[in-house]
Amino acid sequence: MVLKKSKKENEKPKVENEPDCGRHVFSAKETRELQSQLLVWYDKNARTLPWRDIARTEVDPNTRGYSVLVSEIMLQQTQVATVIDYFNKWIKKWPGTKELSKATLEQINQAWSGLGYYSRGRRLWEGARYVEETLDGSMPQTRVELLKLPGVGKYTASAVASIAFGAQVGVVDGNVLRVLSRLRGIGAPIDNQKVVDHMWKLADDIVDKERPGDFNQAMMELGATVCTPKAPSCVTCPVKSMCAARALNAASIVDIEDTCVKCGKSELKMEEGVLNYPRKGKKTASRDERTLVLALSHPNSSGDLVYAVQQRPASGLLANLWELLTVPGEGKQAADDQDEAGKQQKEVKDEKEVISTHLETLKVAYSQLAKKGEVNHVFSHINMTYVLYTATMDKKYEGLELMTLDNFLVKGTSTAMKKVVKLLQSSSSDSCSMKRKSLTAATAADPKQRSINSFFKSVKKE
Ligand code: SF4
Ligand SMILES: [Zn+2]
Repeated sequence: MVLKKSKKENEKPKVENEPDCGRHVFSAKETRELQSQLLVWYDKNARTLPWRDIARTEVDPNTRGYSVLVSEIMLQQTQVATVIDYFNKWIKKWPGTKELSKATLEQINQAWSGLGYYSRGRRLWEGARYVEETLDGSMPQTRVELLKLPGVGKYTASAVASIAFGAQVGVVDGNVLRVLSRLRGIGAPIDNQKVVDHMWKLADDIVDKERPGDFNQAMMELGATVCTPKAPSCVTCPVKSMCAARALNAASIVDIEDTCVKCGKSELKMEEGVLNYPRKGKKTASRDERTLVLALSHPNSSGDLVYAVQQRPASGLLANLWELLTVPGEGKQAADDQDEAGKQQKEVKDEKEVISTHLETLKVAYSQLAKKGEVNHVFSHINMTYVLYTATMDKKYEGLELMTLDNFLVKGTSTAMKKVVKLLQSSSSDSCSMKRKSLTAATAADPKQRSINSFFKSVKKE
């Protein structure tokens, strides 16, 4: 796409070689208005956030850049309210790349636990090591250089470069995309790369040259607090005077060009108003998956139960995190013609077979294999069902790492696995209390029976 230079400042650049009506850009005059209206609004309304304070007051560029990078990586998939606490603890523990580079991956996963998308924490750590080992501790300051850090894409590089170092580059995240598509009436689906490229071009063009970081944050803040996805507050919006979506009415829809790719006229519905924008692309359907989890336990020398645990592979879903034994293979699904009860029985039977075969391969002698229940967890594109089984190891097996559940939970494990452990703990306390009840009843019926306390003491000594 080639843009002709506009002759007058309030004349919009024309687009060549593509059916484009030319309305989806800002003139120089509109750009100046947008910058001043948005910054005045931002100065009055910006939320106080710890990383913003650091970006504003920290004099050391490396600390400033690092802190903004940490916040941006944490914010990639997580809400601001959740990130604040994690950010504060992280910065207290690892105030710069030097400290972070010395951490272990296990410490990283532990500190990231609960934030989700764990590879972000690992990449941040790898980035700190890269800065220390390759750049002698100096944080890169431009979009191009920041892009070389692991896990840093165009958005994060642009955000850090502009917020921490004043680079004159725009940002495009989900909020900015929404605001820009509404302001400029861009109704084409936003999963179209050409539309995304156009948004980046717009963002770079309109960024305030004196205060690029504040302008970018203002655009994102506007999207997060005023121009929200489902209930935008157009009445209080500081830039409503230049909003194409707000000006949309029956008459203006007629005016919109059918041939312009970016207008997306055919999809516009009068009754949806500003919510016509942005037009989402087709969603990728989530897939259903089942994972068999085996809580394989053995009492340690003090009588506490220890469980077999394993670390996940270094790449892929939940990379490097610790988990209870998960068993390859999902367990065969029951044949369609069976009734519900038969189906479940068959499924359980087949899952047991899968687990038994796996334990035989590991040469682990076990007993009491039983199903405890199921836990669902939704990942970005996977609806996962964890099917929990328990079994007892007949003797300690050296090839497996064993630990108590308490130690396991602080080792760096996913939220999904924590849910599984919760189910395990609740099912063990149920069966424990049942055992206690039956033992109490038996003791009451037969005074010669050992008391429940002596029973637990004797188990401890074993
Ligand atoms: S006027 Fe409404 S739709 Fe337009 S930018 Fe403001 S909040 Fe968003
Ligand atoms: Zn158009």
